[in-house]
Order: sequence, then C-alpha cells, then structure tokens
Amino acid sequence: MEIVSGRYFDGKTSRAHQASLSVRDGAAWLEGDVTRHAPLSSLRVSERTRHAARKVTFDDGAFFEPDDMAAFNRLLDASGHRDSGVVRAQQSWKLALGALAATVIVLALAYRYALPGAAAAVARVLPQSVERQMGEGVLELLDERLLAPSKLSAERQRQIAAEFAALRQPHEDRQPYRLLFRKSRLGPNAFALPSGDIILTDEMVKLLDNDRAVAGVLAHELGHLHERHMSRRLIQTSAVAAVTTLLFGDASGFIASLPAVALDMHYSRDAETEADDYAARMLRHNGRPLADLEAVFTALDKLEKENAMSIPYLNSHPPSAERLQRVRHLASAP
Ligand SMILES: [Zn+2]
Repeated sequence: MEIVSGRYFDGKTSRAHQASLSVRDGAAWLEGDVTRHAPLSSLRVSERTRHAARKVTFDDGAFFEPDDMAAFNRLLDASGHRDSGVVRAQQSWKLALGALAATVIVLALAYRYALPGAAAAVARVLPQSVERQMGEGVLELLDERLLAPSKLSAERQRQIAAEFAALRQPHEDRQPYRLLFRKSRLGPNAFALPSGDIILTDEMVKLLDNDRAVAGVLAHELGHLHERHMSRRLIQTSAVAAVTTLLFGDASGFIASLPAVALDMHYSRDAETEADDYAARMLRHNGRPLADLEAVFTALDKLEKENAMSIPYLNSHPPSAERLQRVRHLASAP
C-alpha cells in the first residue's frame, strides 16, 4: 500500500503540518502532525496538469499537498481515482463524435427521403407569386449569360405557338404557361421555369424541323410544369444550398451556379418519365400519333451520337433511344 508524505494545511492558517496520506477501506487517512480521515467520495483531487502541484482538498477547505507527485499519482491510480478532466474530455469526445455521426445520418436520410417529399409539399403550397419570382430570377440570369433573343421571325414564332396552343391539355386543371423563344449558346434546348415560362431555343426548332415534333417537346415541358418538377428541384437545391451556406458561410458559389443548374437541370428519371408520359397523353388526347414524339427522340438520338456530352438538353435527359423505346411501347399498348 502506497503511503505518500506531504504537507497538510487546515485552510485557515498558512501553517504546514507534516503528514502522510494513505487509502484504506474507501477512506483517505492522514497521519503525522495531524490525524484525520474522510471518505474518498468527500474529497476533491485537483486535476493533473503539467505544472501545478496536485492536492487533495477536504470538504472543510483543508488540503494536503503531496511531496512525491509520482507516488501520489500511483496512489490515485491504485484507489481507482480517475481524473475528472480526462473523463469529461473522453465523454465530450464521445458525445461530439456521436452527435456528428447522428447529424450526418439525419442529414443523409433527410436528403434522401424527407427532402424530395418536403420539396414536393412546399412546391404544392408555394404561392404563384413566389414561383413567378423564382422563374423570373432564373430567366434573368440565363438571359444575361447563356441566352440571346431569338432569330426566328415573329411569323415563325406565331406558327409554332399556334401549333402547340391547338392541343388541348389532358387534365381538367389547365396548366398555365407562356412560350418564350430564345437563341442559345448551348444548342437545342427546351425547358420550363417555375414561373410557367417554357423556353424553346431556335436550335431545337431547327434540329426537329417539324412543328408537330416541336409541339411534342413543348408537351414534355408542360408535363414538367404540371408536376412542378422545376420548383421541387429548385427548392431542394436551395435547401441544400441553405445548409451549405450555414456550414461554410458562402452562398456565392450557389448563386453563380443557378443558371447552369437551371439549364442543365437533371431531373430524376422518374420525373422525365412522368413528363414523357404527360406528353404522350396530351398527344393521344388530341388524336395525334405518338410518331410526333418519336420524331423528337429519333432526332435527339442522332444528335447524341454526333455530340456525345456537349449538349445540356441531352445530358439532362435519359438516353433518347430509351425514351424512344418507351414511347413505342406506349404506342403499341391499347
Ligand atoms: Zn425533361
């Protein structure tokens, strides 16, 4: 059994008393100039630091300062004392790691499961004015950076708009939209903004060279609008950006990427299928052949084979051959 010699102070005077400390039966015993004992649980042991001498303090403020620190530490170890500081630090590390892991898991689950649902719910109740603002903001950025006024004549634009307007929508609740023509630096494209604007590029009109097929593309975009895919996607993206901004304190990257995000929007495969199905339903609803839609996918497929990765519309949509196959399957179904 370890016996540690040292000095005892009564806490009231500065007088030192020689004493030795030992531990027996769950109690600390001081013997020498003074004799006293106290249960270990009533004592406070100062924490192990690099420089300060350690001491044992009694509940009345008296304290014992060991002369031999190594012997004192051995005594503490032998009596099962654990540094509260170390214990606290270990606990807080475990807590911090646990909390971090839990946060990551919650975020991952939220991203995977809750966010799309939440975004859909938010998109459903989003006031039209907010959707209009979101759409107008994106269009403004796109016009600044990637789009130019259309080179199509007013007459040509009117023809295309009329061709599409002649189609009745397949749903009771009529989806409002506005068709806008633009020239694009990024090739053939068509996309719908939350504001209800459908942007059609001259390059897409030129590529398809068939106004009924153009109407098929527009029907697909109307499907995206009807299902509010862009609103949902932007809400999701901004939710992620909001979290990222909170974590890293910088939103400039997100803002700068918005036009590209909008133009190169990757909807989920399900969303694209929904939009294709909507287009097919719309054509059928008007007694039009699905060949109008097939013409779109055939033209895109050809383009795909020529310019593998450089066209945003192609990158943001499933392979055209796959879409073509689906429409053919729909066409053969009763
Ligand atoms: Zn699409």
